[in-house]
Amino acid sequence: MTTTQSTNTIQNLNPSTGELLAELPCATSEEVRDAVARARAAQPAWEALGMEERCRMLSGIADGLAERADELARLATQEMGKLYEDAKREVQGFTSMVKTELEEVQEALATQTFKTKGNETQLVRMPHGVVAAITPWNFPVGMPLQILGPALAAGNTVVFKPSEHVPLTGQAIAEIVQACVPEDVLVLVHGAGETGAELVAADIDMVGFVGSRETGKRIMESASKELKRLVLELGGKDPLVVFADSDLDAAAECAVRHSLRNTGQVCCAVERVYVEESAATEFEEKVAALAADWRHGDGFEEGSKMGPLVSEEQRAKVVTQVDAAISDGARLVMGGSCPDGPGWYYPATVLADVAADQRITHEETFGPVVSLSTFDGSEEEAVRLANDTPYGLGANVYSGDTERGARVAARMQAGQVGINQYLGGAPGTPWVGARQSGFGFLGGMEGHRQFTWPKSISKSV
Ligand code: ADP
Repeated sequence: MTTTQSTNTIQNLNPSTGELLAELPCATSEEVRDAVARARAAQPAWEALGMEERCRMLSGIADGLAERADELARLATQEMGKLYEDAKREVQGFTSMVKTELEEVQEALATQTFKTKGNETQLVRMPHGVVAAITPWNFPVGMPLQILGPALAAGNTVVFKPSEHVPLTGQAIAEIVQACVPEDVLVLVHGAGETGAELVAADIDMVGFVGSRETGKRIMESASKELKRLVLELGGKDPLVVFADSDLDAAAECAVRHSLRNTGQVCCAVERVYVEESAATEFEEKVAALAADWRHGDGFEEGSKMGPLVSEEQRAKVVTQVDAAISDGARLVMGGSCPDGPGWYYPATVLADVAADQRITHEETFGPVVSLSTFDGSEEEAVRLANDTPYGLGANVYSGDTERGARVAARMQAGQVGINQYLGGAPGTPWVGARQSGFGFLGGMEGHRQFTWPKSISKSV
């Protein structure tokens, strides 16, 4: 494992080499409670500053990120293995979003006035109080910022627990934010799942969480005791449907890039590809030709297109799923075995003839695997297969017939759908997971409002 919580320390290992980067103490139960108490004590004054002043202070995060951009990107690559170039883009992308996001929060949370004869009602957006921000490792800069920015801007204070796989990146983010705000408005705690569970059970008002579905369920169960508010952004098993009349080159590029990017460790990665039977052979050839170019290697090395998996445990999960798929009848087109040497590398792997009843079709893989299946070309079958999962994060459909693409997209049970492109588009729309991929939203006007509760104040006029 990259990182373990042995009673009370995090062993932070570099997944490219297995070398120890740092050993950090986990917060004790008492330290978690103390962190929450400090954040609670700081909250009223932070709220009283008002939205404009809070956002003015928080806008300094962009300068902090810019100043430490290279350090952050290096830390992310060392701690979780992603390509240094991708890590730099992640930092730059989120740096450039700080200002617009704060403007969007101000717009989303502005007081609204409703009038009727003799009455005027103001709808005010109130902060929840103390938010626990619990984040994953796959986008170690972006995921924390997606929660910290809007939660703080809304007037909450935050106790932040970064993933145990990326504690140093998390610490740097916390320092950047802490430099912009009064003491204890953001408090950092280190630790793994145990510490996260203690934080959720502590005297907090809301959890902002990005991570696995299983952990999300545990958090919901624990939070139910006091009906703490939740935003849970969870995993997915996203389908890509390819009709034979599609631009097959574009569809193959989408399948490969979005199955392999970040070594497949992306919650909205393409995890299942359904190709119309008549195009299956041609599509498989295109996918194999593209995937052959996805060389794995150290994230700092030029020429690497993907780094290692985050941990030995994560690699073992991928190995188990791929091996089981092959022994159950899937055909290995390329990859499929661990390379020798240090680091938790796994090659770009392509499987074909993957059947509906296989484990790899239902469980999130979170690894560099393009999983190809076929369908009979009917819309009915495409929709049925795409929706054959309890998840509902993203979905993608390619068809030369744009009306058919739109019809299939409308019936896909996913929060974000792409037609003849990978999902995701204009800024301002929230990050949504339908069904078991999420509870609540992040980003966009609707997402920002989740960090508040609406309060109506009425008076006679
Ligand atoms: P991943 O597979 O992405 O690591 P997890 O859901 O295991 O997903 O972890 C995401 C975050 O949730 C990490 O910060 C982790 O320490 C934290 N975590 C794990 N278990 C719990 C739990 N029971 N309660 C709260 N947080 C947890």
